[in-house]
Amino acid sequence: EEWRERGAAVGTQREVDASGQTTVRPIKKGVKDFNFGRTLGEGSYSTVLAATDRQNLKEYAIKVLDKRHIIKEKKVKYVNIERDTLNRLTEHPGIVRLYYTFQDERSLYFVLDLASGGELLGVLKKLGSFDIECTRFYGAEILDSVAYMHSRGVIHRDLKPENVLLDSNMHVKITDFGTAKILPDPRPNGRNVVGEPSGDPTDGAETDRAVSFVGTAEYVSPELLRDKNACKASDLWAFGCIVYQLLAGRPPFKAPNEYLTFQKILALDYSFPDGFPEDARDLVERLLVLEPSNRLPVEHIKSHRFFDGMQWGKSLWRQKAPRLN
Ligand code: ATP
Repeated sequence: EEWRERGAAVGTQREVDASGQTTVRPIKKGVKDFNFGRTLGEGSYSTVLAATDRQNLKEYAIKVLDKRHIIKEKKVKYVNIERDTLNRLTEHPGIVRLYYTFQDERSLYFVLDLASGGELLGVLKKLGSFDIECTRFYGAEILDSVAYMHSRGVIHRDLKPENVLLDSNMHVKITDFGTAKILPDPRPNGRNVVGEPSGDPTDGAETDRAVSFVGTAEYVSPELLRDKNACKASDLWAFGCIVYQLLAGRPPFKAPNEYLTFQKILALDYSFPDGFPEDARDLVERLLVLEPSNRLPVEHIKSHRFFDGMQWGKSLWRQKAPRLN
């Protein structure tokens, strides 16, 4: 069987048999345990539906993947990467949580956090651009989530405003780990060691030669184009592109086609629109750096003056999201 089901929390159930013996065994959720509702979106080999747990009426998003289609399109590897990375990233509010996986003859099911606020890209398109306060808030939540995944040995490799979803309170939920990379030797316990900003050898190190192009043209890092090699700092390049885009309303590297976009990236050919805030400009300039090891590491980004006064950690996620305007 190609599909292993493991890792997802399933809870337990007490059962008393005829002799009065009690056994506690895991509950395995299945299709029958959910009421399926509206379609939230479609991917190239998946459909995402809103669903409610019949028992406790909790709402989820369930991603339904057609097995035959996945096999035919040779996507089995990516589906497994998505499940394995999500199973590793269950302890952070900024990452879509995978609760259960199950299957029937035809489909695979991923039961996920419902992100009812939709994509950050949608909100950005509606508003044109964000003000400084909103950029600081969404930038901080994205960065905090990226720091967590890196501490757990995961590189996302396709960060962009489409993959930043929003929950019902307009807080960030990062998704789409199908092209993520699990680093071979993550740190034990997943602790992000504060005060050790540049001591991690995987920060800007080569980790994945021989990958073909993954990601989206506008956010792809120069090292991936040059050496087919992504590292943690490649996510920080994408983060720089996102901060720029939130304020400017468009990504820094944009051209009529992918080839020309790549050329601009490799030449670091971008400029700031008039009125772009000075602190944000300084931050972006320290992130959009061709050499990955020279990019500002996460801890230095957090203490950069653009994020002055920002409450990091739990209180970031407890605060009320700023009004979007
Ligand atoms: P592709 O597979 O082509 O790259 P995709 O990654 O967007 O596309 P899915 O992950 O299946 O494919 O998502 C399809 C759509 O469903 C997306 O547009 C997304 O906005 C929406 N969606 C995905 N996950 C959730 C979620 N947890 N909550 C709400 N909406 C979601």
